[in-house]
Parts: sequence; C-alpha cells; structure tokens
Amino acid sequence: MNCPLCGSVLKEAAVTVKRVVNGKDVYFINVPGEVCSNDLCGQIILHGSIVKEMKKIINKAREDKIDLNKTFDFSRSEDFYNNLEQYAGTTN
Ligand SMILES: [Zn+2]
Repeated sequence: MNCPLCGSVLKEAAVTVKRVVNGKDVYFINVPGEVCSNDLCGQIILHGSIVKEMKKIINKAREDKIDLNKTFDFSRSEDFYNNLEQYAGTTN
C-alpha cells in the first residue's frame, strides 16, 4: 500500500497518536501503524482494527471515569484491562 496523499511507500512503525479522553489530551504510544516514507508528507495510517481497539479503550475510560494520564502505552493495553479496578474513578 502507498500513501493516499502523496503516493510514496509506507513503512510500518510504532506511532504516537493524540486523542482527547475525558477532556484531556492523551498520547497513545507504541501504536502499530504505517508512516509515509516521504518526510515532507509524514502521513500516518492506522488500520481499522487498531482504531477500533483505541476507541474501545477510550470508551472504557469514559465509562469507568479512568484517568489515562498523559501517555498510554498501546502495547500494554492488556495490562489496562487486567487492572481496570485499580484505575476506575481516577478522573476528577
Ligand atoms: Zn505521503
């Protein structure tokens, strides 16, 4: 697959994605994605399954009023689900 914006080759990379969760900026790190090899473009592509997984985490954080802090390590999302009660109610 090539970059939909400039047509350059995409390379797989662990990317950082900013999302607003409970009114706060959260940086999801180590998100598996693809980055355009053209530095002037730098477009990041996320696969649908990854976007879905991220939405699941964000929705869970909203439901359980969980403060995800400033960064959320996407590669450790299993830890997050395993320790939900530890995080619940941490937003103010
Ligand atoms: Zn591009």
